[in-house]
Amino acid sequence: MNTKFAYTKEVAQATSSIFDKLNSQYSEAYWKSMAPYIYKINRLKKEKNAIILAHNYQTPDIFYGVADIVGDSLKLAQEAAKTDAEIIIQCGVHFMAETSKILSPEKRVFIPDFDAGCSLAESINANDVKKLKEKYPNTPVVTYVNTSADVKAETDICCTSSNAVNIVKKLAEQGHKQVLLIPDEYLALNVAKECPEIKVITWERGHCEVHERFTPEDIKNIRKRNEDVVILAHPECPPEVVDECDFSGSTSQMQQYVEEKRPKKAALITECSMSDNIAAANPDLNLVTPCQLCPHMKKITLPKILKSLQEETGEIFVDKQIAIKAKKSVDAMLEMSK
Ligand code: SF4
Repeated sequence: MNTKFAYTKEVAQATSSIFDKLNSQYSEAYWKSMAPYIYKINRLKKEKNAIILAHNYQTPDIFYGVADIVGDSLKLAQEAAKTDAEIIIQCGVHFMAETSKILSPEKRVFIPDFDAGCSLAESINANDVKKLKEKYPNTPVVTYVNTSADVKAETDICCTSSNAVNIVKKLAEQGHKQVLLIPDEYLALNVAKECPEIKVITWERGHCEVHERFTPEDIKNIRKRNEDVVILAHPECPPEVVDECDFSGSTSQMQQYVEEKRPKKAALITECSMSDNIAAANPDLNLVTPCQLCPHMKKITLPKILKSLQEETGEIFVDKQIAIKAKKSVDAMLEMSK
């Protein structure tokens, strides 16, 4: 990384404990270019009463260097809402910043790169959902949190990759014969396999461009090359990929699995930085890293975070009425997940 800031004694002292954790990920020379940014960001966020949220797919320099809260998008937004920070810097993609704004309307939310989008969130808009509702009347609309505020506002219940099965099962128990589970087609098909008691209607255009790239052959090759490997896949992967794996779960569930069960060797079939972040915290874990990067997540960098914090650029605004309706669908999910 090219830096215009010096790696001073003060910077070295303030960041040495972070480098201790990340020295298997970054060379010392590279670290010296990043550390001044980490130092400046951490000082400035205190001065401005700001907090930094980092999704599991952010790089370790951001995840361990400057973030106050880390995790999946819903956890980030929920935890941020509990703080008295005035400013949120969202290290993730656009829909995540909107979710934070919906749950913390009184806080100012910024994204360091406004172009950090998401192939999945962009596959559907509010108009598409209205048309689906006309086509399938009296059918509950369950929407993955990886969607814009406009789409959330048109839906009945949000879901995450960890609670989608439970929510669909509860709707079946309530007597519903079919459910719209949008927009991720593969998540919906994976949920449908576990919920044969209800018809799951999918949105065929919605895919995560990271997870859709994995193939059953990739999984077979990992097994061939790594004896005793335990393979964990995100449910945004195609069902035939999930079928080849030992476990399927959200980013948090995958992390919990490897930390609790501590397999001798594990492979995480998801975005690359997730494995890097788990490896940094668990140096004794043997992780095979089949690398697929999310180009949107990787738009967020330390220099952009510093700029956004300094100049207050990339502020997220959500229309009040849309935010109220979108929050209702998030609240409905939380209520159903109790
Ligand atoms: S990993 Fe997939 S779902 Fe997540 S932001 Fe990137 S494209 Fe969107």
